[in-house]
Amino acid sequence: TQELLIKSDKLSAVGQLAAGVAHEIRNPLTALKGFLQLLKTNSAKEKYYIEIMQKELQRIEFIVNEFLFVSKPQAIHFVPRRLEAIVTSTIDLLQPQALLGNIEIENELAPDLPLVSCDEHQLKQVFINVLKNALEAMTLGGVMRIEALVEPSGTDILIRFTDQGCGIAPERLPKLGEPFYSTKEKGTGLGLMVCYRIIEAHGGTMKIRSKLGEGTTVEITLPASTIS
Ligand code: ADP
Ligand code: MG
Repeated sequence: TQELLIKSDKLSAVGQLAAGVAHEIRNPLTALKGFLQLLKTNSAKEKYYIEIMQKELQRIEFIVNEFLFVSKPQAIHFVPRRLEAIVTSTIDLLQPQALLGNIEIENELAPDLPLVSCDEHQLKQVFINVLKNALEAMTLGGVMRIEALVEPSGTDILIRFTDQGCGIAPERLPKLGEPFYSTKEKGTGLGLMVCYRIIEAHGGTMKIRSKLGEGTTVEITLPASTIS
C-alpha cells in the first residue's frame, strides 16, 4: 500500500539543544584540525593514521555544520528565480554519481514555468539532498524521474522526484525528517530535516510516498512568484 506523509515541524526543541552543542564542538574541533596539520612524520603508518583522523574530523565538522544550519534560523534572501536552472544544476552535480550507479535521470520540466521567489542556494541544497537519497536507494540502477509543473490552482509549482529504489516501509515513513534517523552506515540522518526546514521557510510543502521494493516519490510544492 502507498503511504502519504505530510510533515510538520518536529525540530523546535531539538533544534535549540543542537545549536548549543554544535556550537561548543566547533572550537575544540578547529584546534584539533590545526594541530593535526602540524604533525610531521616519515612513517607511512603514522601518515595513514593522521589521514584517518583528518577524515573523521572532517566528518564531525560536516555533521556539526549541517546541524547548525537547521538549528539556527537562516537569513533567507528571496529572489525570483527560474526553477529550471536550479534543477538542471542539481542534476549536473549528481550526474557522475548517477552514471556510476547505472541510473538514467529523466528530466521533464514543463515549459514556461513561473518564477519562484526563493533562496537559490538553499533550494538547491534541498534538491541535492532529495536526489542524493534517491540515487543512494537505487542500488540496482534504473530510471530517476524529475518533473516540474504548475499545479491546477495556478499558484503553486510542483516538483516531483520519482525513484525506482528500495522504497520505505510504511512504519518507517513517520521517522523521516527526524534528526539522526538514518538507515545508512555512513548517513547523518540530517538531509531530510534540512529539506523540511528550508521548504517550510519558503512557504511550501514536502510529501513523501513510498512503496517497499518499488520506489519512492518526493513531492515538493512551492508558491509561484507573483513577479514574472
Ligand atoms: P541520510 O541520507 O543521511 O540517511 P536523510 O535524512 O537524507 O539521511 O534520509 C533519512 C533516511 O530516509 C535514509 O537513511 C533512508 O532510510 C530514508 N530515505 C530517504 N529518501 C529515500 C529514498 N528516496 N528511498 C528510500 N529511502 C529513503
Ligand atoms: Mg540523505
